[in-house]
Amino acid sequence: MDKVIPQSLRSPVAKTLCITSVLDFWIPASVDLIEPGKRVDFRAESHVSYDVQALLQQSEIPYEVMIDDLQDALEKQRDSNIRAAHSYEKYNDFDTISAWSANIAAQNPGLVSRTQIGSSYEGRPLYLLKVGKSGTNKKAVFIDCGFHAREWISPAFCQWFVKEAVNSYGSDSQFTNLLNNLDFYILPIVNVDGYVYTWTNNRMWRKTRSANKNSSCIGTDPNRNFDAGWCTVGASSRVCDDTYCGSAPESEKETKALANFIRANRSSIKGYLTIHSYSQMLLFPYSYTYNKATDHTELNNVAKAAVSSLTSLYGTKYTYGPGGTTIYLAAGGSDDWAYDVGVKYSFTFELRDTGRYGFALPESQIKPTCEETMLAVKHIANHIMNNA
Ligand SMILES: [Zn+2]
Repeated sequence: MDKVIPQSLRSPVAKTLCITSVLDFWIPASVDLIEPGKRVDFRAESHVSYDVQALLQQSEIPYEVMIDDLQDALEKQRDSNIRAAHSYEKYNDFDTISAWSANIAAQNPGLVSRTQIGSSYEGRPLYLLKVGKSGTNKKAVFIDCGFHAREWISPAFCQWFVKEAVNSYGSDSQFTNLLNNLDFYILPIVNVDGYVYTWTNNRMWRKTRSANKNSSCIGTDPNRNFDAGWCTVGASSRVCDDTYCGSAPESEKETKALANFIRANRSSIKGYLTIHSYSQMLLFPYSYTYNKATDHTELNNVAKAAVSSLTSLYGTKYTYGPGGTTIYLAAGGSDDWAYDVGVKYSFTFELRDTGRYGFALPESQIKPTCEETMLAVKHIANHIMNNA
């Protein structure tokens, strides 16, 4: 017997709506953020992939299959399944990163110290590393990683940065100078619960893992949860959406802890760098409005030079500019919030790649990605050291 298709599903529009609800948007992060003329990356479950392709063809929308079998790509993402110890060139799980942060602080007492700035919704510690030679009245740069759980290259970069600092101190004059004059606060994973969940349950999870009132949908987008035009544009008030802004600004324990730390150290923190993936972009305020930031010209010049330094190593092409015009309007982001509380040098990195692997970036790309990103970060830090 033929299957009976309900009338509502026969209209192409209804069918489109029906299908978008089962798509996982990668770039941009939500269907609401799609803009005419801009590229969209999304993941479709295998059972709808033929329908989706048929719809795209009917609509004459050009498309390309980037990853034919995501499961296969994820299996190949890791060079081997033997996860014996911490490695800077592998993706490390939460426990391994926690143990690593304790060890590197213990082994480098004059350069690295570890504190806890709060706990996650599920009770995990939010560890913060302070990296720099002790001194008085030092300026500081805050760097965080792992806002969005599935962006695994991001925590890998924070670990790489600390390794480079420790290995370079006393041997590399430029980095030694930076560490003598600046403190770096490194938060290796902001969204620890989400990160654990990507290792245990769903590799493509993005949000936090907090419960929502009157809904079985879990989590808030931590990078829509800050008090910067909160939930006005480019964020969703629907709890089930991947860009859900939360019940209030800083409703999440993780964003609250981060914001509290920056507020408490506002007088010393001159730079804020938040590391995401993917799309190879260096962004600065604003994302919640098209208005230019007061420091637009300086930030644009710093971004331009940082990107040119990054590209010099492997030729990786980056775009840069204010978030709103470079990607899309999105309110409640941590970079806009930091800028508005007075951290002038506020930047968002979107690391490799541009969609070939997306969130399934192979481990073989950790080293080159971190090396090139270091050049941009050091450029920004130098500028802060000399100008802030
Ligand atoms: Zn992100």
